[in-house]
Amino acid sequence: MKTDLLSMEMGELEDFCRGLGEPKFRAGQIFRWMHLGTAFAEMSDLSRPLRETLSEKAVLLYPEIAEKYVSQKDGTVKYLWRLHDGQNVESVFMRYHHGNTICISTQAGCRMGCAFCASTLGGKVRDLLPAEMLGQVIMAQRDMGERISGVVLMGIGEPLDNYDNVIRFLHLVNHPKGLNIGYRHISLSTCGLVDGIDRLAEENLPITLSISLHAPTDALRSQIMPINQKWNIAQLLGAAVRYFEKTGRRISFEYTLIAGKNDTKEGAAALVSAMKTYVGRKMPIHINLIPVNPIAERDFHSSNTENIRRFAEYLEKNGMTATTRRTLGPDINASCGQLRNRENQKSINQGA
Ligand code: SAH
Repeated sequence: MKTDLLSMEMGELEDFCRGLGEPKFRAGQIFRWMHLGTAFAEMSDLSRPLRETLSEKAVLLYPEIAEKYVSQKDGTVKYLWRLHDGQNVESVFMRYHHGNTICISTQAGCRMGCAFCASTLGGKVRDLLPAEMLGQVIMAQRDMGERISGVVLMGIGEPLDNYDNVIRFLHLVNHPKGLNIGYRHISLSTCGLVDGIDRLAEENLPITLSISLHAPTDALRSQIMPINQKWNIAQLLGAAVRYFEKTGRRISFEYTLIAGKNDTKEGAAALVSAMKTYVGRKMPIHINLIPVNPIAERDFHSSNTENIRRFAEYLEKNGMTATTRRTLGPDINASCGQLRNRENQKSINQGA
């Protein structure tokens, strides 16, 4: 088994170099190169014997670009990556006025079972290694030739279900000798793993936490998000308040608008009521409204613009802030999970 070098934090890399009889500063050189997506053979300030030793003992788990789609509308770029064992995951590169942001995957598949989500249809195959999460950012930046200054963990997978690898990834992507992406430019989205939220609050990382709420009552939430049967809305919002009190970081709630299910006036009123009951004045409430992106396998339809506007207006009137997510890359299937499914479907049809 070769050592997965790209998943190592600096201290571990120093130990690894020491084990090879190399001085400590080699770790810094190797770290810099790896985080630029460089192969061992091209690490030009290392001796040839050292480069050869590295290739024998270690491996760099950069994902390979399997497919790439560029939106003709807004320049959004979608990558389908192939990992070392043939698994596929997706990332989306987005241009915003404040810089380039990438949305990355944290697992190959997902076991959370949200009814509206394409990523969970085939279940979870495996967790991604820190190197494979970092590799998505490194290789997209290298391919685009433009700096990436923000990361959102909103691709395939549930980040808090791959907790240790995700925390390690966050340390690595923030490292000043590597990509140096500020924690304040990183968002982590969860479907509501309360134990993970409480753990994350203790990590002292000033990232932004997003919570996928999507329904205002336990009856509806349990129906569309199975995790709600383990931790209900009261428990989830309780964890959100604890997180805010511990970290001082505002939380953003995601609310996917599904026509006739959760986008009604009653839905908005129930949402306000849940927030009043379980959050009250303990923290500011921001709701990010996302028109549902219908997937072929499920019969969900997006709210119309008028309903979305009214929903947002109702929340604003009741003391919350609400934004409606702009849809990027609508022409390239930019919502996560769709390409991976198509690839998996292909290999099933080919009997692979
Ligand atoms: N597992 C994490 C992060 C991945 S999903 C989570 O659940 O938060 C990122 C966001 O996209 C979540 O809010 C998720 O609920 C939402 N999402 C999933 N499928 C969607 C769809 N078809 N339309 C709109 N939003 C969707």
